[in-house]
Amino acid sequence: MKYYVSRQRQWPDGDLMVEVAVGGLDYANPGMLAEKFPQWGEGREFTDPREAANAAVSVWEVWKQTSPTTEIGIGHGATGGMTMPFSDCGADALAEWAEAAYEALPKCAECGELLGAETYTHESADDDRFCREYCAEENYRRQQEDNGPDEHGESDDDDFNGGRDSDAEGRL
Ligand SMILES: [Zn+2]
Repeated sequence: MKYYVSRQRQWPDGDLMVEVAVGGLDYANPGMLAEKFPQWGEGREFTDPREAANAAVSVWEVWKQTSPTTEIGIGHGATGGMTMPFSDCGADALAEWAEAAYEALPKCAECGELLGAETYTHESADDDRFCREYCAEENYRRQQEDNGPDEHGESDDDDFNGGRDSDAEGRL
């Protein structure tokens, strides 16, 4: 999942807003303003919603400073690829949303980091996914160590018969 931070003049009311668009750049609203604060994260895609929310707040703060008489909102949402003005929720609610969104995202079963677009697995990982090959290998290795001949009794089809299969490495 990607989160895109942009400044918007929202359709149809023309309200100004910093938005975090769920899904990335392709799902941002069409009222995007020219990039002005890229150093604060405007115009960037984030994989961590908490980082996107932090960036959005920074962009919001600096924008408000440069346009002190203008009303500017901050919000988040998912356009689903259409035009859908988001509601102004304030910085606190944005942070709460980001935290919950982060919690709900799939994590690497080995190190707990967020999974990227590319994930890794190994033959006895079941539904577990890993953020990188290293994590998949580590997990596999430990699983083989943990699965002694006595504990590995759930399935007899793929029983390693001792867990020290000679070509285990090559089957990763
Ligand atoms: Zn990992």
